[in-house]
Amino acid sequence: MRRKTMSVGIDGGSTAAKLVRFDGRRIVASKTVEARKWPSLLELVKKDEPVCTTGYFRKKIPHHLTLTEISAARLGVARYYPDAEVIIDLGGQDTKVLDLRNLALQMNDKCSAGTGAFLEQAARYFGVTVGGLAKMAEKAQDRVDINSTCSVFAQSEIISMLEKGAKKEEVAAGLHYALARRISELVPDAKKIVAIGGVARNRSMLVMLSVILGRKLVVPPEPQLVNALGAAVNAAAHSSQS
Ligand code: ADP
Repeated sequence: MRRKTMSVGIDGGSTAAKLVRFDGRRIVASKTVEARKWPSLLELVKKDEPVCTTGYFRKKIPHHLTLTEISAARLGVARYYPDAEVIIDLGGQDTKVLDLRNLALQMNDKCSAGTGAFLEQAARYFGVTVGGLAKMAEKAQDRVDINSTCSVFAQSEIISMLEKGAKKEEVAAGLHYALARRISELVPDAKKIVAIGGVARNRSMLVMLSVILGRKLVVPPEPQLVNALGAAVNAAAHSSQS
């Protein structure tokens, strides 16, 4: 029996570094570490395996090939949904929306209030993880309106709302809603909208975003690994040509 050819994709994101090993059909191993710990992922790469990198640190990480995040997202999403029309990549430091019908890209990378960093900052304030903050939001019966478009001001809004007697669950729901509303402004209408990136693991965010958009979002298994998968697919395609 012929041995399967493996390839590796590494997504060196600005918040998290992700590695995927791909056997030509599916992900057979993966690992996610903090962004600055990307060197630890290299221990998992076997010799002879072609490596393609993507993400913010893609040029820094040793590689055979590199790929932009947009191309990696397209290749990764195509493995699950060849008929996707729009990709929303919900990252830690930026949010990208790619319309695959005309290749228009909308991006929020200037302001942390439109990214995962917004919820991370709020989670730190409450002394919980982002997953914990999302669970808190799910328990809310109601939500407060967070009007600030800046995460620094949002923080002072949180404090004053809690002082006025708002429940922390309602504030958590308000924070998720505020982020979802900001992201929704970048998203064009489409029948098949796919959400990927670490923040797509946050169910509260997905629910609120789909309510605001009036569309169900499609989320692949392990959405945070999709760009690394796209890179691995690219590595496999190039190694089979050589
Ligand atoms: P980047 O590629 O920009 O480094 P990622 O796509 O890896 O970013 O996403 C990182 C973001 O995902 C962080 O803001 C983190 O808080 C969020 N995240 C990761 N896992 C979860 C989870 N289980 N629940 C909620 N948010 C999560």
